[in-house]
Amino acid sequence: MSALTLSNVTKTFGTTEVITGVDLDVEPGEFCVFVGPSGCGKSTLLRMIAGLEDVTSGDVKIDDRRVNDVAPAKREIAMVFQSYALYPHLTVRDNMGLALKQAGTSRADITAATDKASAMLGLDPLIDRRPSELSGGQRQRVAIGRAIVRRPKLFLFDEPLSNLDAALRVATRIEIARLHRELGATMIYVTHDQVEAMTLADKIVVLRAGRVEQVGPPMELYNDPANTFVAGFIGSPQ
Ligand code: ADP
Ligand code: MG
Repeated sequence: MSALTLSNVTKTFGTTEVITGVDLDVEPGEFCVFVGPSGCGKSTLLRMIAGLEDVTSGDVKIDDRRVNDVAPAKREIAMVFQSYALYPHLTVRDNMGLALKQAGTSRADITAATDKASAMLGLDPLIDRRPSELSGGQRQRVAIGRAIVRRPKLFLFDEPLSNLDAALRVATRIEIARLHRELGATMIYVTHDQVEAMTLADKIVVLRAGRVEQVGPPMELYNDPANTFVAGFIGSPQ
């Protein structure tokens, strides 16, 4: 079984093709990183997996189920964005629990789930605060907590660290790696940062202008890049 399968996925905006014939298999529990320069189509690909963009042609499967026509809320995914997207009027706990509340989960179960996520992320002391009372790093941890409480089959991250300063970026990156180990969940992570890709990934997908240039474990790409673009991007001295 695959956690995610993309088969010949293409996306066209107007007359411009921005994703071309992407094939990919991600195994359960794998940490898969999409890396490539700005504008190469990373977010578009992730948004098609999430169901936030339609696929122009090709198939998206989650756990071997074709989801092309399945609404985002029904795909059992959770997405973490660069911009946190927290509700300013809700506390940390209510931000984390909102999706469960909307799904009709009982109050006791919401409290249990948000307690667990906040403990995992060190958010206990902040649980009653509102987003305006938090630092950028704390806000991103709340956004990650909001993803965790939904127990998704797939976590999707779109450049979650790019609004953080350098020290926080490293700390949060280490935290995401730890969560991946603890949860054993499948994660798809978009970044244009080679260091993030090399340190987080089980599997790296290098994208260029909407096409996959190479897929493989970090050291394979480093030691045996398919071409000069991959070599330049992964930083192997050629
Ligand atoms: P990345 O995340 O790698 O920076 P994107 O997926 O955001 O790249 O964008 C890929 C290409 O698709 C870019 O050329 C971008 O301008 C274009 N694009 C993205 N979203 C839209 C849209 N809604 N309408 C038209 N063009 C878009
Ligand atoms: Mg993007």
